[in-house]
Amino acid sequence: MADAAPSGDTNRRRVLLKISGEGFIHPGERGIAMDAVLHLAQQTFRAAQHGPQIAIVMGGGNILRGAQFTSGASCIHEATAHYMGMLATVMNGLALQDALESLGCDTRLMTAIRMDGVAEPYIRRRARRHLEKGRIVILAGGTGSPFVTTDTAAAQRALELDASILLKATRVDGVFSDDPEKNPHAVLYGELTYEEVQRQNLRVMDHEAITKCMEYDLPILVFNFRKAGNIENAVLGQRVGTLIHGKKNGQ
Ligand code: UDP
Repeated sequence: MADAAPSGDTNRRRVLLKISGEGFIHPGERGIAMDAVLHLAQQTFRAAQHGPQIAIVMGGGNILRGAQFTSGASCIHEATAHYMGMLATVMNGLALQDALESLGCDTRLMTAIRMDGVAEPYIRRRARRHLEKGRIVILAGGTGSPFVTTDTAAAQRALELDASILLKATRVDGVFSDDPEKNPHAVLYGELTYEEVQRQNLRVMDHEAITKCMEYDLPILVFNFRKAGNIENAVLGQRVGTLIHGKKNGQ
């Protein structure tokens, strides 16, 4: 899939796909399961074949989250732990890059923290150029700053890269009224406004990430990456999961 789009082509749909580290493991495990990575890569590859520009923000929770070290008992400073979490996203990014390339995708891995021997530094204009050339751009290292998560990085990058939507791939079918893994009566929403998410305190993304999306009217689609075809459908603009945006039912 090398350089499919003519350079400078900015008319194609550009999406920001946020893949949580959970996508890289089997339930209950930690680390990186390459078959799970390959499964995600295959879905992304199929979606990319239809021509949209795809930037991926990589999570790292399958390896480490900074919040694990917030207890006073830890000798690791919380900021250090967050940097460790950001490094975890780079490991995932490297795995995803190789999985995508094994399928023939043209990719670039860019990191928010410089690691010149491993990946390109994230430079907004360069990332856009890669996208215009049809490369799948994997963005690792989060925002490069501690105390936030890759959801915030996803909102940030979606806005600066002018993505038309933020696609949040999760292990559940969308946004529920309650935790569906604990409450079997939790109701799945098809559509929500940013205000409803905030008012009902629904656990979709960090408060900071939702606020940023709301401020710039960037729609968010939350969907289940485990369901076959979902990444493809989400990338192609078909309705799966829960759509969060500013207005409902054409109001
Ligand atoms: N992180 C950070 N700054 C960022 C992005 C991530 O400090 O801009 C750290 C944070 O500790 C986070 C960890 O990296 O918990 C891994 O990312 P995240 O928890 O978002 O991964 P996911 O849940 O999506 O797998």
